[in-house]
Amino acid sequence: MTVNVKTYARLADAAGALSSERGARFLGGGTLLMRAINEADPEVETIVRSTDPSFLHLTVSSGRVELGAGVTMAALLAERELAFLHPAARAVGGPAIREAATVGGNLFAPAPYGDFATALLALDATVTLAGGAGQREQPLDEFLGRRDRGASLVSMVAFKRPPADAFRFLKVTRVHPKGISILSIAAQLPTASGRVAGARIAYGAMNRTPVRAKAAERALEGRALDAAGIAPALAVATDGTAPVDDAIASAWWRSEILPVHLRRLLLGESKV
Ligand SMILES: Cc1cc2nc3c(=O)[nH]c(=O)nc-3n(C[C@H](O)[C@H](O)[C@H](O)COP(=O)(O)OP(=O)(O)OC[C@H]3O[C@@H](n4cnc5c(N)ncnc54)[C@H](O)[C@@H]3O)c2cc1C
Repeated sequence: MTVNVKTYARLADAAGALSSERGARFLGGGTLLMRAINEADPEVETIVRSTDPSFLHLTVSSGRVELGAGVTMAALLAERELAFLHPAARAVGGPAIREAATVGGNLFAPAPYGDFATALLALDATVTLAGGAGQREQPLDEFLGRRDRGASLVSMVAFKRPPADAFRFLKVTRVHPKGISILSIAAQLPTASGRVAGARIAYGAMNRTPVRAKAAERALEGRALDAAGIAPALAVATDGTAPVDDAIASAWWRSEILPVHLRRLLLGESKV
């Protein structure tokens, strides 16, 4: 089977090509897509790629972080201003995978992959979708819920920089340091006068895509991050989750251990 490769200088043109051809797939770092092609996946007929420099754009200011969808995990790890995100970037595969794996590709990676997307969800990120008619911004939460409905080209993700020490991430795996997730948890836990104010918690591998733990977020509001304060959140930790059985873990096991690891994360006892 021959696979066509089409390269565009502008993301908008690549987006047009992607949406006009059913068998077209956009190439990020290729860690999943090239594997599918090597396995002769009949659904992939055309690879669409772009040399648009904005795809690799990375800016960090005091208030906002913007990551072009083509930014790799390795590039993130080289950016000292993004140290709070390094545990999540480091959670994606081993060093060779991280050299190629992109932020955009992680948003499309099927569970139990998607560790970095889980972190972005807890950061309340937005995605920018490129299109022939211009760009469109969408909350990541909404984007993930509709991910499989059409061929959209993600050009950028952006989020407000969290307050110092407010962001936490952990990944539970059987094989250290680079095994695939049993689950991952990311949380943004701003506090005011020692009480949680506006928590965002996201789980990876606890559903088809990374999901927000909205019941746990609500239960944490106004509470202290101590054993008594987090108890109501732990009681509803699995609400809204629908994990699957796979080669890494059973759905039952994922649900059993989620509250244990959420507890460690909230109490600041977890190591990545
Ligand atoms: C050995 C191995 C270990 C891995 N370990 C992990 C892990 O621990 N954690 C984890 O999260 N993932 C892991 N992965 C999965 C994968 O490497 C990462 O999820 C990576 O971030 C995917 O990005 P990519 O750029 O390589 O995607 P690609 O392979 O380029 O693309 C994946 C899919 O996303 C689409 N796509 C890519 N970019 C865009 C875009 N900008 N807009 C629209 N569609 C796009 C592609 O068309 C394709 O369908 C692993 C993979 C392998 C092979």
